[in-house]
Amino acid sequence: MNLRDYVASIPNYPTEGVIFRDISPLMGNGEAYREATQAIVEFAKEKQVDMIVGPEARGFIIGCPVAYELGIGFAPARKKGKLPRETIEVSYGLEYGKDVLTLHKDAIKPGQRVLICDDLLATGGTIAATTKLVEELGGVVVGCAFLIELNDLHGRDKIKDYDILALMDY
Ligand code: 5GP
Repeated sequence: MNLRDYVASIPNYPTEGVIFRDISPLMGNGEAYREATQAIVEFAKEKQVDMIVGPEARGFIIGCPVAYELGIGFAPARKKGKLPRETIEVSYGLEYGKDVLTLHKDAIKPGQRVLICDDLLATGGTIAATTKLVEELGGVVVGCAFLIELNDLHGRDKIKDYDILALMDY
């Protein structure tokens, strides 16, 4: 199965000149979703991961089934104001603007080995912010896993200290 067949490319979305890579066809196909999840699970097993963290919102779609399959926990990194208890926060630049990402203070225990999952690596702003949150809590980021990496945006440069898994690149 070629996972690329399940990514829709939308020209000029959300702004002129951008090609949006839509993963909903992949999520909408049980076999493709499972194959992508399993590939990340294998990567996580090699890294002996204790905990998955995923940024809102598509990081949940990728990270949660991986955590479930491994029988480990998942912690959501969310936009400011969305988590109900005490949080830490970091602000970051997005491909399309600026934002603040937060994590519950007790989401990660010091020394836990964390895999960060998201659907797509673009400029790397979101994932770099997520690594900062995890490390501020004493977690050890053992890798970052994505369905898709956009090569032209060089997001990899922002997370060059970490092992990266990208199942597809454009
Ligand atoms: P970055 O912070 O690396 O610039 O942007 C990555 C974040 O924006 C990810 O959380 C991802 O969900 C979202 N994103 C940016 N561009 C795209 C895209 O073309 N397709 C999808 N599915 N998500 C995108």
